[in-house]
Amino acid sequence: MGKCKNITRLLSDALDRRLTTREWVAIRLHLPTCSGCRNYRKQIRLLRVAAHAASGIEAPGAAASDD
Ligand SMILES: [Zn+2]
Repeated sequence: MGKCKNITRLLSDALDRRLTTREWVAIRLHLPTCSGCRNYRKQIRLLRVAAHAASGIEAPGAAASDD
């Protein structure tokens, strides 16, 4: 499904930039229906925390705390 490709890209983008409301809506509508994308989100969050820990910078955790 092309949708998942789009959603995972947005989840990844969310680490680097602010998503638009429309983009968040697309994610919020899709995640409850798709365990694959939920797992992806979980994984990139862990990666992000690990990356920050490795560089000695505390993870802000602001952009992705939507639940
Ligand atoms: Zn999906």
